[in-house]
Amino acid sequence: MAAPHTHADWRALAAAFAPPTGHHIDGAEEPGGGALFDVVSPRDGRVLAAVADSGQAEVDHAVAAARRAFDHGPWPRLAPADRGRALIRLAELVERDRAALALAISLEMGKPVTEAHDIELRAVAGTFRWYGQLADKLTDEAPQVSPDALALVTREPAGVVGAVVPWNFPLTLAAWKLAPALAAGCTVVLKPSELSPLSALLLARLGAEAGLPAGVLNVVAGDGPTAGRALGLHPDVDVLAFTGSTAVGRRFLHYAADSNLKRVWLELGGKSPNLVLPDAPDLGRAAATAAWGIFFNQGQMCTAPSRLLVHSSIAEEVTAAVVDRARALRVGDPLDPATEMGPLAGERHLGRVLGHVAAAAQDGARLRTGGSRALPGSGGNGSGSDGGSDVSGGSYLEPTVFDRVAPDSRLAREEVFGPVLAVLPFDDLDQAVRLANATEYGLAAGLWTSDLSTAHRLSRALRAGTVWVNCYEEGDLSVPFGGMKQSGNGRDKSVHALEKYTELKTTWIAL
Ligand code: NAD
Repeated sequence: MAAPHTHADWRALAAAFAPPTGHHIDGAEEPGGGALFDVVSPRDGRVLAAVADSGQAEVDHAVAAARRAFDHGPWPRLAPADRGRALIRLAELVERDRAALALAISLEMGKPVTEAHDIELRAVAGTFRWYGQLADKLTDEAPQVSPDALALVTREPAGVVGAVVPWNFPLTLAAWKLAPALAAGCTVVLKPSELSPLSALLLARLGAEAGLPAGVLNVVAGDGPTAGRALGLHPDVDVLAFTGSTAVGRRFLHYAADSNLKRVWLELGGKSPNLVLPDAPDLGRAAATAAWGIFFNQGQMCTAPSRLLVHSSIAEEVTAAVVDRARALRVGDPLDPATEMGPLAGERHLGRVLGHVAAAAQDGARLRTGGSRALPGSGGNGSGSDGGSDVSGGSYLEPTVFDRVAPDSRLAREEVFGPVLAVLPFDDLDQAVRLANATEYGLAAGLWTSDLSTAHRLSRALRAGTVWVNCYEEGDLSVPFGGMKQSGNGRDKSVHALEKYTELKTTWIAL
């Protein structure tokens, strides 16, 4: 496919969009038992496809295929370099089909298509390549235990992995689980969100083309309470790798306890603080980054800096700059390359986010900008950039900023998962740390200061899996990603992710 550039290019591709609609099980696409569910585009409320709906029977079938491929197939027994080659081939195919995958993501969950193409798909290809290159560079241990014995500590693939992921970065979050699990020699059943199954089904096709043996990568589409639960409780699944909300993560711990004590790895929600100190190196950049962080991907980021904690001496200056940025953002058709914010993931999610907005107002916060549905009427409302396409019926929301947010209010504590910023002032660093740590979450934090000692002290005091200093959302595959407290356990990315998909074995040989 030639690289699309313009709104018209993307709209032409969307008009011809024909995604796979069957499960991908044991190397083949299957229609399932006949039940279907509609995938609705939040771009315009139209049905994109009717997809096979997986129940217990389809999950059983997929897990049996993954079990066979693990217990008897070649994949776990290949030389690691051969597994690595297949993953690198998959990375190349993702790059080849980047436009088609970006289009699927943008249509199914509303992300601006250029962000799907330039940011998400680069991360997906990069993840498969990174773990593909890593696969044959791992070593085991032989500790020096005794002159009369040889001890070997080896890592073995952990077995069948059930991966359940959300819709906000549908392929990146899937790749963060698939790539290390496959590199380790595991086999996988992936259940994408019911809001975003199309990109995952396309990826499964590429997996087969890349040479993954039948049963190594299976994808079942279906909802959480049926397909997700069946995977969670399945006695033949050895590891659950979950990304999603803290409430559903809790369920996965129950599933494991109620079945076979499978390992459960959780990447959950967040309410991340972003601390701006008066000695920030550049207040303009701090404000611009705060705005970018909360509005990127329509605010549907587990790491979104959703609490801006700003010193009271600079609070108005920083808040006003964020509000200016919010008002300037172009909300519109995600297929338009000029769009900066597309729709939220769907009507139900938009309704939930509007509920948080109403609660914030009830709790006494001051609305500085936004707070309402955007592009509500036929054809958009002029503030958007739909460039002639009809995106009425889409789930759009204005970028929203509240200040005077009380620390114990719902907006200060609850994850919104939308483009809604809470601004809270602080007067000294002790108060800033207390406020920052005063949620059940511990995923990420930002801080802005010119003082090296303050940066280190604050970083140590913040209970978060990642702390960004004078930046936000920066990263690399070599650094681990995950949360403390109720933001989860275990880490995605980096060599540490392999620990989730391997078991340590000790072999003690008397000499
Ligand atoms: P969600 O928890 O509702 O759903 C996530 C997945 O779990 C979906 O595939 C869904 O079908 C499935 N699911 C839902 N109910 C289930 C059940 N009862 N049993 C089994 N499976 C079930 O989350 P979402 O709305 O898709 O995504 C938003 C959440 O994900 C936010 O809380 C966000 O912070 C979190 N998230 C976390 C990270 C991270 O890395 N920490 C990254 C992205 C998103």
